[in-house]
This record gives sequence, structure tokens and C-alpha cells, in this order.
Amino acid sequence: MRSILNFVNNKFEEGEGEDRFDVFNPAFGAKIASVREARREEVERAVDLAYDAQLKWQKVPISDRINHLFKLERLIWANIDKIAEVTTNEHGKTFEEAKGDAIRAIQNVQSAAAASYHIMGRNNKQIANGVDEELIRVPIGVFAIISPFNFPVMIPFWFFPYSVTLGNSVIIKPSEKTPMSMETVMNLVKEAGYPEGVVQMINGGKESVDFLLENKKVAGVSFVGSTPVAEYVYRKGTSNRKRVQAGASAKNYILVMPDADLEGGIDNIIGSFYGNAGERCLAGSVLVTLPENHDKVMNAFKKRATGLRLGYGMEPDTDMGPLIRREHKERVETYIQKGEDEGGKILLDGRKATCSKYPNGFFLGPSIIDGVTEGMTVMNDEIFGPVASFYTANSLDDALDVMNRSRFGNASSIYTSSGQNARKFSEGINVGNIGINVGVAAPIAFYPFSGMKESFFGDLHPQGGDDNVLFFTERKVIISRW
Ligand code: NAD
Repeated sequence: MRSILNFVNNKFEEGEGEDRFDVFNPAFGAKIASVREARREEVERAVDLAYDAQLKWQKVPISDRINHLFKLERLIWANIDKIAEVTTNEHGKTFEEAKGDAIRAIQNVQSAAAASYHIMGRNNKQIANGVDEELIRVPIGVFAIISPFNFPVMIPFWFFPYSVTLGNSVIIKPSEKTPMSMETVMNLVKEAGYPEGVVQMINGGKESVDFLLENKKVAGVSFVGSTPVAEYVYRKGTSNRKRVQAGASAKNYILVMPDADLEGGIDNIIGSFYGNAGERCLAGSVLVTLPENHDKVMNAFKKRATGLRLGYGMEPDTDMGPLIRREHKERVETYIQKGEDEGGKILLDGRKATCSKYPNGFFLGPSIIDGVTEGMTVMNDEIFGPVASFYTANSLDDALDVMNRSRFGNASSIYTSSGQNARKFSEGINVGNIGINVGVAAPIAFYPFSGMKESFFGDLHPQGGDDNVLFFTERKVIISRW
């Protein structure tokens, strides 16, 4: 079985460390590749080369740096089916979902092309007698990008096009569970003509992350993953004097008001809970209704959920793929059991679902747990699987209170036909990404991906707009008298 290759100085290289991690096709339950943990010397070499490359790259005019983005954009479009197939095979999501992952990456390439506008400084003539003052933004150095398994293409692209176009170099460290998609993309990075050392990729797990966090030449770290690891990366990175932005876990509540257009919204709501098999940091996890619409919403939801077809993501009739690993499937099953043990009623049990064509796959069907209350584990923990918990609130205010007690603050949505309810919700809910009649509140590339509370560590968020420009540049102020 082959090992995933690193990409250093525009060459694909075998890693030198031990084989530590298996990559699976989760639909077949079969190993398809392995990942070596990077050795400290390998990481140091990649960083040294990136450091030297950045010193030259920062002097390249920004319009020339942007030209690489245009090439890359065209190359990703031309190869999108190939990339999506790799993603489906290593992750399990459907081909259409995998294509969506790559399209979101492309949108970030497009958004980064506005860098020459965003990097502009400011100035004041005659701020004092004969004195002018000017602010300029300059690149910083080498940035590390550490990504999770669930969107293997999009998430490195939340950072890499901006960082590089603003004049930095990057070391990408993909998830050891889904490293093949970015390995495929690196061929296109090479073809897009980036100079050696500007975009590097190394593979591995915790140790390679530690080597990056300990390396003095790494100026900053963009991380996305689970809350405990995000907090660890944030603390260790900042104590080593790096700037860190770290997206983390989520628990997302979807409130359906009695005045909602249920018929129009139900497919969108189902997509929020079961799209990507629930392995999405913006996935709906708890469905909140009021007493008067609980039964109506439940009936519509259950009918749709029951109809979802499990399967291999490359087959067009598949609605939902498998989970990433057998252990993760078992973990989600434990949550379903806890939901029942702690007083919930299982109305749809995904543990009973099978995919007869792929008996070794890590499949789990959609589940529904009704009658969930505030103290229950399924109400509070991130499950990261196809499980919908139903909670009944007394009113919109009551629903807001319950949702705001969550330690997470990634996303939340309301379904309503009342502008007043929508306004009250968006003002009152303490999450970073808010959906109004939108079940997956995913900001487009030129808006920040705005998690709050334990869903985000740092100040400047992923994606375009001002946040990434501030994160990937330093400001200098020049006060001059002539
Ligand atoms: P993870 O935390 O296990 O891994 C993320 C990255 O950290 C990987 O590259 C991994 O190799 C590395 N890593 C793992 N353990 C480490 C350790 N102990 N020390 C240092 N590095 C370590 O996350 P995952 O399971 O790959 O991804 C799922 C999680 O990511 C979910 O919690 C999900 O909510 C979250 N997520 C958040 C966002 C967001 O924007 N907030 C987006 C996508 C996913």
C-alpha cells in the first residue's frame, strides 16, 4: 500500500517517518493508503525552504502573485471531477458533496484575487506641520495550515490562497484521515507555477503539528478541528509567540417556528442534519420546535429522513455516505444509546440501517431522538453524525435562552415567515453564523467564517474580508517629514 507523499519545493517526496495512520475508503471499509508521521528534521527542512522562498516571494509584485490564482482557479475547474472522486473515496461523502467542497475552495481562490485591494494601506497628509503619516500592510513569513478530515479541500483553501497572495509562504498539514485530496490538488499548485517553497505540504498527525508549533520560523498557525485540539494548538502556538486562528467543534440548533413554511423548508432542514452524514461543523444537531408545531415538524422530518438511501458516494442514487471510521460510527452509536438511556425516545434508529451492497462500510442510518431535555448528553455534546435530537421550547425567548446556554457558538438557524421573529433571533442568538430559513449557515468566501465561544479560539476568523488580511499581514506606520 502506498504512503501519501509530501510536497516540498514543488516535488513530491516520500516521507521519512514511520507508517502510523491508515487511510480508508469508508464505504468499503478498506484501507487504501497510509500516512507516515513526519520527523522533526523533515518539518524543519520544509519550513527552512519555505522561509527562504518567502523572502523572495514577498518581493514579487502582488499582481504577479494574483496571476497564479487565476491559473489555479482554471486548473481546479478542469480537474474538479477527479478531485471530487478522490475525496469521495477517502472521506465517504457523495460525489456531489465532494464537488461542493472543491467549489467552496475555488470561491476562496476567487476571493483572494482581491488581495491587491485589501492590502492597500492608508495615509494622512499634513497630520502635523510638514508631517505625513502612512500605514502599510506587509507579509510576515511562514504560516502553517492544519486542517480536519471533513472538508479536505475547502478548509486548507480558507487560508492558503490569501496567505500566499499576500506574500507569505505556507506549510499545509492535512488531516491524516483524508490526505489524498490535497495531494491531488498539489499537482495543480505546481502547474499553476508557484515558485519552489512557497506552497509546501507535509503529512502526519499530532507530532508533525507539534514540530510546526515549536518551530521559531513559523510565524502563524491557521487551525481547524475539534475543540480540545484547537485549544491546545491555540495555547501552545500563542505561548510560542505565534499568531493563531483556530476553528473548533460545534453544536448547532435549528429552530422551526409555527409560522415557518415547512413544506418549502423541509428538504433544506434535512440537508442540514444529514448532509455529509452529519460530519459538518455547520450541521444541524438539535431541532427545536414549539409545542404547537412539534408533531407537524416531526412527521415531515421523519418521513424525509426515512427515505434517505445509504451507499457509496460515487453511485448517483446515494443520498448519504458512511462515517469516516468504524470507531467514529461506534462513538455516534453510543450517543444514540445515551439519548435513550437518559430519557429520550428513539423514533428512528440508524443503528438498524444497513447497506447490503457494502457490508464492510462504516454506515449508520439517520436517527431521530425525541423528547430531549437540557441536561441530556445529546443536547450538549457535539455528535458529528447523522443524529437529530428534538427539543420542545415554550417560546422564541425560551428557545434563545436554551441555545445560548450552549458552550459552543458556531451556527444556528431559524425557520420562520415573520421578519420580527427573524430579527429577534439574529439579535439574540450568540453564534457566529446565523441562518434565516437557511439550514447550513455557511458564509461565502469573502465573509469571515465566524464561530464564537468554544467553537473558535483567536480573534481573526478564516476566509476573506478583512479578517484574513489582518491575520496574514503586519501593519507598519511611517511618519515622515521632508
Ligand atoms: P481533530 O481535532 O481530530 O484534527 C484536526 C487536525 O489536528 C488534524 O490535522 C489532526 O492531525 C490534528 N491533531 C489531532 N490531534 C492532535 C493533537 N492531539 N495535537 C495536535 N494536533 C492534532 O479534528 P477532526 O476529527 O479531523 O475534525 C472534526 C472536528 O473539526 C469537529 O469537531 C468539527 O466540528 C471541527 N470542525 C470545525 C470547523 C470550524 O470551522 N469551526 C470546520 C470543520 C470542522
